[in-house]
Amino acid sequence: MDTVKQIVRDIPNFPKEGIVFKDITPLLADAAAFEKIIKTLKKRYSGKEIHKVVGVEARGFIFASALAYALNAGITMIRKPGKLPYKTYQETYSLEYGTDTIEIHQDALRENERIILIDDVLATGGTLAATLNLIRNNFKNVEIEEVAFLIELDFLNGREKLKGTPIHSLIHY
Ligand code: AMP
Repeated sequence: MDTVKQIVRDIPNFPKEGIVFKDITPLLADAAAFEKIIKTLKKRYSGKEIHKVVGVEARGFIFASALAYALNAGITMIRKPGKLPYKTYQETYSLEYGTDTIEIHQDALRENERIILIDDVLATGGTLAATLNLIRNNFKNVEIEEVAFLIELDFLNGREKLKGTPIHSLIHY
């Protein structure tokens, strides 16, 4: 993963002053790096009988899609409000300033399904904590095998917010 890590580009002060944004677009454009990521995750979850890979809008979809295909699983999308056309469940969570909401289709997961969740970056953990609440509050007997991230920003302690759920990140900063 060291070679993959080297391709991630730091963009200082994006989207606002003081934030160093981890830009994964050079990595997505690199066939060998992208293949390495998907193969590594495939190896980890093969044989776990994963029914669905849940991707978080928007960059999570990229990894969820390739991984679901590799695992012969389905994909479920966690989206910003107003994007999903069918009946949804919602979860609202606090941000530094204000709140945000995420949605999932009411028929997105079935009882006794085993799932993994995936996103590109674990920063403060707010988004994933809300995603876990959204799933746990609305779907019975869905087993969360693990939450996978490409990148974890260790210094933000996002992992603390996800306590009790197995977390796996390929790259740490
Ligand atoms: P958080 O809820 O703070 O863990 O982060 C929410 C989302 O923001 C993640 O899904 C990331 O896609 C994105 N994000 C947060 N911080 C960064 C960062 N420093 N670089 C790139 N993406 C980030």
